[in-house]
Amino acid sequence: MAILAEFAPLLPWPGDGRRITALLALHTMSTTLDIVRIPVLSDNYVWLMREPQSGAVGVVDPAVAGPILAEAEKRRWKITHILNTHHHGDHVGGNLEIKKATGCTIVGPRQDRARIPGIDVEVDDGDRYRFGEAEAEIFFVPGHTSGHIAYAFREQKALFCGDTLFALGCGRMFEGTPQQFWTSLSRLRALPDDMRVYCAHEYTQSNARFAVTVERDNRKLIERSAAIDAARAKGEATVPSLLGEEKATNPFLRADVPAVQAAVGMAGGDPVAVFAEVRQRKDTFR
Ligand SMILES: [Zn+2]
Repeated sequence: MAILAEFAPLLPWPGDGRRITALLALHTMSTTLDIVRIPVLSDNYVWLMREPQSGAVGVVDPAVAGPILAEAEKRRWKITHILNTHHHGDHVGGNLEIKKATGCTIVGPRQDRARIPGIDVEVDDGDRYRFGEAEAEIFFVPGHTSGHIAYAFREQKALFCGDTLFALGCGRMFEGTPQQFWTSLSRLRALPDDMRVYCAHEYTQSNARFAVTVERDNRKLIERSAAIDAARAKGEATVPSLLGEEKATNPFLRADVPAVQAAVGMAGGDPVAVFAEVRQRKDTFR
């Protein structure tokens, strides 16, 4: 199919059925992403990914440069892109050094362009950014920071959401309002259950300890919490997770669920107020 598509422009018969078929094949060609998790600093995950058809190699939120360049070198992958979700130092700290070493293109949130070192391409809500033969849909998701974005590769079922949504948690509300944050999380929640959530930190075990204090009777949450404890005891990563399991167990995605509302003493409450209450409880949870 790929060979047929490659020669399509050379076929000499205008309007010929075979040519139309070939062009359709080109248009619907699908691809994959090979995604590698690189743990850096105390609990950050940097995601290195390759789109095999084009050879495009992207780094999502490079906190640092050295370990990322080393991993890419080891795999003989040439870094072509950096995709930033927000401006925090543990997400952009490696930008300039990686760009200097590779000449890559830096993509980041338009609303935060002044705070993204070396930014080349500004993207905003609803944009579709072409990464090799794959495509990311951009979601503007303020709350943790005022300019935060997420990259949703729908076809490859990969969501890179930085510090907006964590496994069993969400980011601290540094620059946003509960209304903004709840709206952002609700939009991510609307994505399909089988999307994988590639967040930027290994916070899952402490998030689980908090989550079970909110929803004491959520059987799926209790089971997940036990599985997380077992994984961490073996030193295993708990990220990526599945969006479907976040929907079923993450209290920050469940502020409109009666059990969560009742658990924080706000039965029938406004989801924004319930979200704010859960977020506040987490801020002071020890
Ligand atoms: Zn952050």
